[in-house]
Amino acid sequence: MSNKNLIIIGGGAAGLVSAICRARAGQKVTLLEQNNKLGKKILVSGNGKCNIGNKYINQKRFHGENSAFIREVLDGYGFDVVEKFFRSIGLELVEDKDGKMFPMSLQASSVVELLEYEAKRVGVEIVCECGVTGIEKSSDMFTVETTHGKKTCQKLLLASGSPATPQLGGSNAGHIFALQMGHSVVPCLPSLVQLCSHDSWVKKCAGVKIAGVAKLYANSEFIIEKSGDLLFADYGISGLAILDLSREASIRLANYEYCELSLDLMPQFTKEQLTNLLLQRVDSASQKPIELWLYGVINKKLIPIILEQSKCKIRVEKELNRKEIGKIVYAMKNLKLSINDTKGFKNAEVATGGINTTEVNPHTMESLVVPNLYFAGEILDVDGDRGGFNFHFAWISGMRAGSQMSM
Ligand SMILES: Cc1cc2nc3c(=O)[nH]c(=O)nc-3n(C[C@H](O)[C@H](O)[C@H](O)COP(=O)(O)OP(=O)(O)OC[C@H]3O[C@@H](n4cnc5c(N)ncnc54)[C@H](O)[C@@H]3O)c2cc1C
Repeated sequence: MSNKNLIIIGGGAAGLVSAICRARAGQKVTLLEQNNKLGKKILVSGNGKCNIGNKYINQKRFHGENSAFIREVLDGYGFDVVEKFFRSIGLELVEDKDGKMFPMSLQASSVVELLEYEAKRVGVEIVCECGVTGIEKSSDMFTVETTHGKKTCQKLLLASGSPATPQLGGSNAGHIFALQMGHSVVPCLPSLVQLCSHDSWVKKCAGVKIAGVAKLYANSEFIIEKSGDLLFADYGISGLAILDLSREASIRLANYEYCELSLDLMPQFTKEQLTNLLLQRVDSASQKPIELWLYGVINKKLIPIILEQSKCKIRVEKELNRKEIGKIVYAMKNLKLSINDTKGFKNAEVATGGINTTEVNPHTMESLVVPNLYFAGEILDVDGDRGGFNFHFAWISGMRAGSQMSM
């Protein structure tokens, strides 16, 4: 066993895996976690099932300012490595769809409990309810100030995550410690998060969920399009399509750009198909109010805003013509919703930004600024798409730090 001890700050995904790998390699490891239990984000992840990773690892699913760093971290650390690790702690994985992997138990708690058991089995000292409040570095030693007093170590690993979801332990403490030791930090923004709108109509549609397509425009320029659930809420809009484009919205909003969504509420039809469908429905003798006529086609809460944005002047069915139907179809496939904010870190699954990765060795995760200082997980300027990619990065950066670290 090495006589150099390692302290890991953060008992989340990255901290737990690096602790296990390091202790397996024979190092004395202490894991400090501010919460009363380990892995709180793992426990709530994937709606309690934990989307632990993804079979289709591709660099495009990861984001950060330094793509070369991401490429090198991923190199040789695909899903097979993650699967092998979890097998080694007794966890079987199953695929859902699109390569999304889950524990076979479909219980996130089994992931945390098996990680904790293995960490203890290989001798990791785990200290919960131990918040780190400061770090001092002398020539060959780190002094870690905690709510349990001072601790010293020769090697220190920051795996304290990002500011996303502070109610589960999200914090920027690690970024502050790293800044104090001479690192730079790419500013963090909420990602995989709901979006807010001041448009008053959206409140009236709260609770409506449809499968649609959302296109994001910033300062009138098309940025990105995502398909999936659109869920209207009293604050704005959520749903998987929105979470998937929220990273781009967050960046544009932080840059004070005017953000607007264009929503296709009927993606299953082309413009022509929808026009024909509606034209066929017109009864030229019917006095039916147009709102009621549309009840048969789309959620009734959306109809007033579709009619308002279409600027359709007609009020009864029999007066409808191709021109007016064209306007309605356009609104149904291009409904505008202005976006003024995100729902913030409190509601974000992850944060963009973090430790500047040009200052970190992608093979060992060691700092290039402070010898014997390491990083793993979301604390770094790397975030992933929804679908298990964030955990993938946390596990493999933890494994790299844990297995490549010098004694
Ligand atoms: C609701 C939700 C659902 C998610 N679902 C998924 C999913 O299904 N799939 C997926 O891939 N990703 C998912 N994520 C993202 C994923 O949870 C994170 O990317 C991942 O947990 C990051 O791991 P980490 O170890 O870097 O950070 P964390 O898991 O956040 O761990 C950091 C730990 O450090 C501790 N800490 C912080 N500061 C201090 C301090 N000063 N002293 C001591 N301890 C400290 C924190 O309490 C925390 O336990 C989800 C996130 C959320 C919030």
